[in-house]
Amino acid sequence: MKKIKELDEKIFLLCVVFIMLIGLFEISTIRKTSFDAQNAFYYLTILQSKGPRIPGYAAHDMAVDFITSTLHKNGWQVEIQAGEVNGHPYRNIIGKMGTQATKLLLGSHYDSRLIADNDHNPDWHNYQVPGANDGGSSTAVLLELSRILAVDNRTGIALVFFDIEDQGRIDGWDWILGSREYVKRNSAKPRMMVLLDMVGGHNQTIQPPSNSDKEIYRQIQQVAAQFKYDDHFLNASQGVILDDHVPFLEAGVPSVNLIDIVDPNWHTTQDDLENVSIFSLQRIGDTLIEWINHTH
Ligand SMILES: [Zn+2]
Repeated sequence: MKKIKELDEKIFLLCVVFIMLIGLFEISTIRKTSFDAQNAFYYLTILQSKGPRIPGYAAHDMAVDFITSTLHKNGWQVEIQAGEVNGHPYRNIIGKMGTQATKLLLGSHYDSRLIADNDHNPDWHNYQVPGANDGGSSTAVLLELSRILAVDNRTGIALVFFDIEDQGRIDGWDWILGSREYVKRNSAKPRMMVLLDMVGGHNQTIQPPSNSDKEIYRQIQQVAAQFKYDDHFLNASQGVILDDHVPFLEAGVPSVNLIDIVDPNWHTTQDDLENVSIFSLQRIGDTLIEWINHTH
């Protein structure tokens, strides 16, 4: 009887060790990267504290200053591509490290939309969109990526913050004006482009449109699955989206649009900090850092 009891205890202990090992393995497969979503969220709160980043407004100028100074602080060379399009001044902000040609361009627009024409209250359609998710979340993620990529001394990557993406269906304006100018004025094209847009919603479902590179997204989805983020990185949709990746696609650059188009606060006055999730920022950041480590 005693022997059997000792054997039982040994088996029990072996089981405990086995379960602990499985647990450790699980933790190691879903480990977090050095991407710090709290830091990304901090960048976002600063961007939002200035007000909607409407081209021509002081808050827009302050956003340009903040993006530029953060890139500098994180060790990047910054170039501002300034000009005028459709009579509107614009500034694309380009961060680079080293002198190597750009292999990978990571992009985000940073302007906020002039009118909240999707708001549930028609009286608010002439209000400005705060743009915490639409323009803000992706900008904050790129800024946090700039901190990590600098620590890793990554060259051959450009971070581009596009101006006036979000002013379509407004008299005298159009969509994606900044990125169109960027592609027009840069004859040297990157090997590939990854665009982030509206990546921070609470119910994050990244779903690229059909006009988005399938192979690059397959790789990104595989990396997301390693973190068990599968539910947040859906297969490409059937729909087409006009976004800042389109001028690159038209120029023959394989480009992916990482977008969550089902945000209920899209182009409303509720697109504010409350409706951005720190966990969503962590998921997109982990996935991108790990994908970059694998492929660049
Ligand atoms: Zn928008």
